[in-house]
Amino acid sequence: MKDAIEIKNLNVSYGKHTALRDISLSVEEGEYLGIMGPNGSGKSTLLKAILGLVPAKSGEIRIFGNTLHDNKKILGYVPQFSDLDRSFPISVGEVVLTSMQKGGLHPFFRFSKQQREEAEKSLEAVGLSGYSDRSISQLSGGELQRLLIARALAAGPSVLLLDEPTASVDPKSRELIYGLLGKLNKKITIIMVTHDMTAISSEVKKLACLNETLVYHGEPRLTEKVVSELYGCPVDLIAHGLPHRVLKEHDGGEHCC
Ligand code: ADP
Ligand code: MG
Repeated sequence: MKDAIEIKNLNVSYGKHTALRDISLSVEEGEYLGIMGPNGSGKSTLLKAILGLVPAKSGEIRIFGNTLHDNKKILGYVPQFSDLDRSFPISVGEVVLTSMQKGGLHPFFRFSKQQREEAEKSLEAVGLSGYSDRSISQLSGGELQRLLIARALAAGPSVLLLDEPTASVDPKSRELIYGLLGKLNKKITIIMVTHDMTAISSEVKKLACLNETLVYHGEPRLTEKVVSELYGCPVDLIAHGLPHRVLKEHDGGEHCC
């Protein structure tokens, strides 16, 4: 299998603050990688570094063997929900079409019939066919999240990067999104980050645990040691799709969360 993404000794800082430390990680083509870690552990930063949105202080990132950052067509990005302004007056169909327009929108620009059909196909893929003319302010959290996935898909990416895709959605939409990502993974590589252990669904093939640096990378099974390193204390593991397993009681020690 080819590596879709290869990261070697990556360090990222915001000024003096280190966000990612010495990350080395490979993602094979066709993989579905879940990246888990508490808030502030650098998950969003890692996705942004792969996308070339934040610079590496040192280290290397290769996308299908290429270090160039002209990867917009290869990488589809579903940003964190909270980054969005839902009151922005734009329709569902327009949101999807914006991913197909290169070089920004200019006055009197019109999308082609083919682009509109592509947009409709992406909406269909996420179960939103017929929603094209609705304003985004009329969508539920789950529908909006699926719309963001449709938008990323419309550009035909080989790798889909999702930032906390199930954080702000109801349980039904959550299941829908897991099912959808499992289906999409038959064709494309998926990297999903989450702070929520229950978001590591049975479709996830590999798991990476991040807390500024990589604490674990391997099969989607968690041990007490890894969870402890990740969250600073033992927590109950009742992850969706993972065998139910409850770790030892909190001891309330000084490093406990
Ligand atoms: P996560 O997505 O796991 O919650 P982030 O990647 O957003 O973590 O943040 C990692 C660390 O970097 C945090 O300590 C956060 O405060 C810091 N950070 C994130 N973005 C910026 C930024 N634009 N400027 C300065 N610090 C940032
Ligand atoms: Mg984040």
